Amino acid sequence: MADDVISRYPDLPRPEAPQAIATVRDFVNTDDLETGIDLLVTAVGLSTYLRDEGLLAGTARASRRDLEQARELRAGLRAALVANHDGSGAPVEMLGPAVERLELRLTWGEDGPRLEPSRAGVAAALARIGIAAYEAARDGTWPRLKICSSDACEWAYFDHSKNQSRRWCEYGCGNRAKSRALRERRRAAL
Ligand SMILES: [Zn+2]
Repeated sequence: MADDVISRYPDLPRPEAPQAIATVRDFVNTDDLETGIDLLVTAVGLSTYLRDEGLLAGTARASRRDLEQARELRAGLRAALVANHDGSGAPVEMLGPAVERLELRLTWGEDGPRLEPSRAGVAAALARIGIAAYEAARDGTWPRLKICSSDACEWAYFDHSKNQSRRWCEYGCGNRAKSRALRERRRAAL
């Protein structure tokens, strides 16, 4: 079943990205517009995803409320990635309430200050996703996390390009868009 659900992954391995970026990217990509498969439709789906990603340990199970919170967080993060893509830096209002509900605490260790989940279980798993976004923003990689320009795709991707100008994900959307534009120009020239 799991192999069916994560249909993109067997032949299209997740491209390399810094760990914090990959955590947020893969969470946003649990809703795959192209295939119509959404891994976070049920509380069981959420538990399975978080466990598979190593974000949730033990036997904790997501509740209906956790699912709502996860979906809200995902929608907010997606909106923030669209803003990264547009380069608009537009405020992402829906993300504020979603991250405020995350259960975090600031601790101080040998390496200095650190954000950590303040509760266990699913709350901790969702907090880890929020902390990943924070870490990516702090290390400067956050603006490179974007949403593919293709309306049929909208896959979250990490922009490796030097000048941060990549507009499509790694799955050939750029090539498809280019060949479509070429065909249209040729047709117009006839
Ligand atoms: Zn794409």
